[in-house]
Amino acid sequence: MSQTPVRTRIAPSPTGEPHVGLAYTAMVNMALIHQGGGGQFILRIEDTDQTRSNAASEQSIYDCMRWLGITFDESPEVGGPHGPYRQTERREIYAKYAAELEEKGHAFTCFCTPERLDTMRLLQKKQGKKPMYDGHCLNLSKEDVAKRKAAGEPHVLRMKMPTEGDCTFTDGIYGQISIPWADVDMQVIMKADGLPTYHLAVVVDDHLMGITHIVRGEEWIPSTPKHIKLYEYFGWEMPPTYHLPVLRNPDRTKLSKRKNHTSLRWFQGQGYLPQAIINFLGQSFVRFAEGEEEVMPFTDFLTKFDAAVVSKAGAVFDLGKLDWFNGRWLREKLSDEEYLAHVTAWANEGDKLKQALLLARSRIVKLAELPTWVGPVFQDDFHLTAESFAGLKSTPEQTAAILAAVLERVEKMPDFTPSAIWDELKALEGPLGLKARVITAPLFIAIGGKAQGLPLTDSMALIGKSLTRARLKAALALFQQTTAEDVQPAEEPC
Ligand code: GLU
Repeated sequence: MSQTPVRTRIAPSPTGEPHVGLAYTAMVNMALIHQGGGGQFILRIEDTDQTRSNAASEQSIYDCMRWLGITFDESPEVGGPHGPYRQTERREIYAKYAAELEEKGHAFTCFCTPERLDTMRLLQKKQGKKPMYDGHCLNLSKEDVAKRKAAGEPHVLRMKMPTEGDCTFTDGIYGQISIPWADVDMQVIMKADGLPTYHLAVVVDDHLMGITHIVRGEEWIPSTPKHIKLYEYFGWEMPPTYHLPVLRNPDRTKLSKRKNHTSLRWFQGQGYLPQAIINFLGQSFVRFAEGEEEVMPFTDFLTKFDAAVVSKAGAVFDLGKLDWFNGRWLREKLSDEEYLAHVTAWANEGDKLKQALLLARSRIVKLAELPTWVGPVFQDDFHLTAESFAGLKSTPEQTAAILAAVLERVEKMPDFTPSAIWDELKALEGPLGLKARVITAPLFIAIGGKAQGLPLTDSMALIGKSLTRARLKAALALFQQTTAEDVQPAEEPC
């Protein structure tokens, strides 16, 4: 008897560097396919937030997944029968389904201005109510809507919501969940820029792409009633959901880059093996027998995945345990050839070794000096202290301000090229009231471990954004009572 193929997907938004949680979600998707007797794994790029999406981030998703050994049957890269797989290329599809919802009376055009909505929310908050759309445009006549649209008045499309009863559904991880309909907002489904919001796009795409199991982070549980309603409005059957608890820091707070390293790029740059990361993530959804060997290959995790083992409290992301896995893989599990292949791939990632050697050329008189100059690019810790920054033109307060300001700028830079970095550093001269050479001095130490190093902005671009961020944070922490993590600007969702 032939089984229906399982079709699952990950649907990352290309903003920032790929988060380790994406790998975790991908593994569970793959396990469901494996355990369901085979099928297809799809990568869809959810880039409808045009202000935050960028091509470099999308490329990082492809690179990091490939590095981990996670491959796709369908994606923007490899194509497939249900494409395009990038949401900004599917505008017409969403527009058609949005029009259908409005036509059938399941959605309505809303002309409320951002100012009106702000005032409304403020008032609701004052009254101790949850901020929700108040239905102001719910009953506009068709003629009125047509006239205002024709006059070019900005508008969005909102979905209608029941106001009574509960939405109850069964999740593959959390079991039965009930959410009162009255708590579910009349969600915007088409934005003023003509692009859909996540909610409409995810439902339309999952349906058209034949997705059979929806695996995603627990943060989407409150949105699920909206999706259930959309499936109902369209007359489609909604696939079962598997919401995965967020990864947590050892102190059980949500894993965030404020407190921990979350970027797959960072782990790659530090020389963690993909096998160790897979092992580390996989152990949280596998039941090990007493005394069973925990170090195992990817395929074993796919076979042994057990939804009942997934802790609703969230898997703890313990770097010590990751180190333990990595050490065991490096020392015991790889052949000499595999080990050397990993070292070579690591050193050459992004052409790093070659670029570092080229940068060092301007600094040396003989080749034996190369390790001194190139070493810091690959080193994991410079063991700096506040003393390491003594003797600079800037005072300790100014040095801390420089590190904090550069860290903040780095976070926001879409292009992390030497010239873009230089522009940002120059732009800080005014706000910090310091010359560029005073600003760069502590950065040499933070980024390269000592006062003299490879050209600064080239080094930063070479080691990449996540390592630059990590090194700046480590240096800044030396100047603060509290840890550097506390000054980290807002989290970028993956
Ligand atoms: N773009 C969403 C995210 O990155 C996808 C969520 C989903 O898988 O439905 O979290």
